[in-house]
Amino acid sequence: MTELRGKITDAKTIVVKVGTSTITHANGSMDYHHMEKMARVLADLRCDGRNIVLVTSGAIGVGRFRMGMSEKPNSLPQKQALAAIGQVSLMHIYSKFFSEYDQITAQVLITRDVVDDTLKKKNTYNTFCTLLDYGAIPIVNENDTVATEEIEPYFGDNDTLSAVVAELIDADLLILLSDIEGLYDKNPKYHQDAHLIPVVYDVYNQEIDGIGDTDNDLGTGGMKTKIEAAKICYRAGIPMVITNGDDPDHIYEILEGRDVGTLFVPCMDHVHV
Ligand code: ADP
Repeated sequence: MTELRGKITDAKTIVVKVGTSTITHANGSMDYHHMEKMARVLADLRCDGRNIVLVTSGAIGVGRFRMGMSEKPNSLPQKQALAAIGQVSLMHIYSKFFSEYDQITAQVLITRDVVDDTLKKKNTYNTFCTLLDYGAIPIVNENDTVATEEIEPYFGDNDTLSAVVAELIDADLLILLSDIEGLYDKNPKYHQDAHLIPVVYDVYNQEIDGIGDTDNDLGTGGMKTKIEAAKICYRAGIPMVITNGDDPDHIYEILEGRDVGTLFVPCMDHVHV
C-alpha cells in the first residue's frame, strides 16, 4: 500500500473524467459553477507541474438542451447530431474557464479504432505527448459524429474511454468525477442501508461485478462501465478513484493520499515507484 500511495501522491500524469451529471443541470444546461471550480483545480495542478488530461462527457445533454428537446434522443443520428452541437458549447466554456487561469486547452476526439489500429494508436499517443510537452490540457471526448452503434456500450459514458486514454498515455492515476461518492455495495439511490466501499483490492472479484447500472436520465454508464474502466486500469497498473464531482477539491485530498471515494487498487506487478 505504501508503494501505491507513493504512485498516487507523486502522480505526474493524471487523467480526470467528469460525468454528465456533474457538469450539467438536470435539464441538460451547463453547470458553470461546477465547471469553473473543476477548471480552477485542474489549472492549479497543471501549474504545480502535473500533466492533466480531462475526459469530458456532456455533449449530447448540452446539445439536447440547446435544441430545446425534453425527450432523450433515441436514434444514433440524433445523438450524433446533438453531440456535435453540444461539443462546441462545451469546448467554448472549458476554453474560457481554463484560459482565465492562463491554461491552453486542446480538443481531442477519439473513436474506438484508436486502440485497435497500431498506427492510429501511435499517432494519438504522439499527439498526447506533444500536447503535454507544450503544457496544454487535452480535453477528450468520444468522437460521436463518426462513432458506430457498437461503440456505445464499449465506451459507455466515457468511463472506459478515460481508462483507454490513461493506459495509452501511461498515466499514473485516473480519477472519475461522478454524481456519487464512490462505489457502494448496492445502489444507494434505492437502498438506504448501502455502504460505501473505500477500497476495491480485486476488481475481478465476482461480488464487484454487476453491482449496478445508472438510473438517471443524463448519465449513461452507471457503475457498470466504471468497473470496466477499473479492470483496464488494473491490468495497466494504474490506480483509479471514483469520487463525487460536486467538490473538485476532493482531487487535492486524493493527491494527499487521503481516503476519498473508492480506490481501485491496480495489479501491483506493474507499480514501480
Ligand atoms: P456519472 O457519469 O456522473 O458518473 P452515472 O449515472 O454514469 O453518472 O453513474 C453514477 C450512478 O450510478 C449513480 O448516480 C447511481 O445511481 C448509479 N449506481 C448504480 N449502482 C451503484 C452502486 N453500487 N454504487 C454507486 N452508484 C451506483
